[in-house]
Amino acid sequence: MDRQMEIRNKAAFATRPCAVLMDIDNTMYAYDTAHAAASEAAMRKTIKMLGIKQAEYEPAFAEARREVKTILKETASAHSRLLYFARMLERLGMKSQPLMVLDLEQTYWRNFLSASTLFPQVKDFLEDLRAAGIPVAAVTDLTAQIQFRKLIYFGLDHYFDHIVTSEEAGVEKPAAKPFQMALERLSLIPGQLVWFVGDDAKKDIAGAKAALGAITLQKRHDGVEVSGEADAVFDHFRELREVLRGSV
Ligand SMILES: [Mg+2]
Repeated sequence: MDRQMEIRNKAAFATRPCAVLMDIDNTMYAYDTAHAAASEAAMRKTIKMLGIKQAEYEPAFAEARREVKTILKETASAHSRLLYFARMLERLGMKSQPLMVLDLEQTYWRNFLSASTLFPQVKDFLEDLRAAGIPVAAVTDLTAQIQFRKLIYFGLDHYFDHIVTSEEAGVEKPAAKPFQMALERLSLIPGQLVWFVGDDAKKDIAGAKAALGAITLQKRHDGVEVSGEADAVFDHFRELREVLRGSV
């Protein structure tokens, strides 16, 4: 089924934006498939290394993850695979195993990246912005190291004027801080027209509206909960490129 892009606020797109801010995960590529492949690979490796069963791995990992998240809450480290694996091995009765933990983390991210594919025309959209002289910033949750690595893997690292992660902001979206930091780095002031492109109704759409009064564009695909307050909802980056062409 081919859905139509929904433009709910036509007037918002009649004016050229001063900058475009973008989320990375599940906006530029589908997160779920990459995460599933990576989780499976890390699990297989652990099971093999320790000679345990999947039925032992799964609850130990789930509990370790919950424990880390409970302590670290809405921060970048709350997503740390390194911490999840470290705690998991402890829960399985082992002492600290730095080498094994680093190996599992690398296994996770290596498999994650090789199972990730950029959505069609993401790069073309970024090219369009560059050609139009519109600055671009990424505003993303998670630690800087892996987010930088993703952009390099996708060949997108040169398209962003600035990258703000929740690691350096100290807090995750939808908190205002990461959005404000991006605005400051772009030398813009509140009230200047910016677009925010993201997938998450609460973190990206509600967050960017509340923090910046941004014009929000939501990337829709399977598993995305559509926001009632997005100014536009799109399925394909080619539609976003058309909207941009109409505004510049
Ligand atoms: Mg996202």
